[in-house]
Amino acid sequence: MMDGTLSGISVVVPVYNEERSLSILVEKLIAVLRELPNRFEILLVNDGSQDGSLALLRSLSRANREVKVVDFRRNYGQTAALMAGIDHATNDIVVMIDADLQNDPADIPRLLAKLEEGYDVVSGWRRERKDSELKRNWVSRIANRFISRVSGVKLHDYGCTLKVYRRSVVSGIRLYGEMHRFIPIYAEWQGARITELPVTHHARQFGASNYGMERIFKVVLDLLVVMFLRRYFAKPIYLFGGFGLISIIAAFATIALSILLRLFAHISLIQTPLPLLAALLFLVGVISILLGLVAEMLVRTYYESQGARAYLVRELINFQADPGSTVQEDI
Ligand code: UDP
Ligand code: MG
Repeated sequence: MMDGTLSGISVVVPVYNEERSLSILVEKLIAVLRELPNRFEILLVNDGSQDGSLALLRSLSRANREVKVVDFRRNYGQTAALMAGIDHATNDIVVMIDADLQNDPADIPRLLAKLEEGYDVVSGWRRERKDSELKRNWVSRIANRFISRVSGVKLHDYGCTLKVYRRSVVSGIRLYGEMHRFIPIYAEWQGARITELPVTHHARQFGASNYGMERIFKVVLDLLVVMFLRRYFAKPIYLFGGFGLISIIAAFATIALSILLRLFAHISLIQTPLPLLAALLFLVGVISILLGLVAEMLVRTYYESQGARAYLVRELINFQADPGSTVQEDI
């Protein structure tokens, strides 16, 4: 360890309807973690599952002291579940991993060893990804390249949940929408040292993926927000004002052009409606994007000024000294 003391490990697992993989997952995680000298906890965040996941988590937490459960009141999504994990982690190293056994717990020691070399984030890279080629791999390869390009953070696989973090670089983070994949980008903005390692990836054994193609659009829009926040959060007027000025100049140029056409080519101003329509549609599109960004800022103001959380916890299991104990949280 870098400071001479052995850091503890908090493994964070988002769980949504994963009753068939949970026992195997927890068993594998414990087997891997027991081999390490570090103390550990496994934080399973039940994201409003409708199947038997919660009952299973309860019994797993009764059987193992290290297994802790955060039970959401309803389904808030993977990002909120991961954030709850970060918020409740008590150890200095945070490991995130999917519940569906697509990530392999056996990769964790290698990722931790890499972290010990002096990194703050070690990102898993599903080099041989076992999801359907057309639906996921192809699109996500383009998406990853695009995100890497615009963010300046050079990673191959943002979408892979299996990543290892020092808690200090993720603890203050606020995440919304599908933004968990951008945690390394936020971390890098805080000055974190980031690297990646290829990890094993398995096809989903039980159940089906919770996502479809619509995720691509969400990710692109989230990326837009991230870039907006990075560049313009302090001075949004540079973006909005800059756009406004250009738009006004363009308006004057258009008026000048139609007057010229009227004077020298004798084309009436109302003879060509098509450019008007095109300009109108374009403006409406751009304005709605800008309004979306404004709304993003309002949402942030709402959450952060009030210290409100984006999720509600019903119960915390195994957070107190006696095993099997539960704490009712009323927030
Ligand atoms: N998940 C979650 N809440 C959701 C959807 C998914 O906590 O609303 C969890 C899910 O249980 C799994 C992880 O997030 O542990 C990744 O989900 P999934 O396997 O469906 O995504 P994919 O592997 O297809 O990217
Ligand atoms: Mg999966």
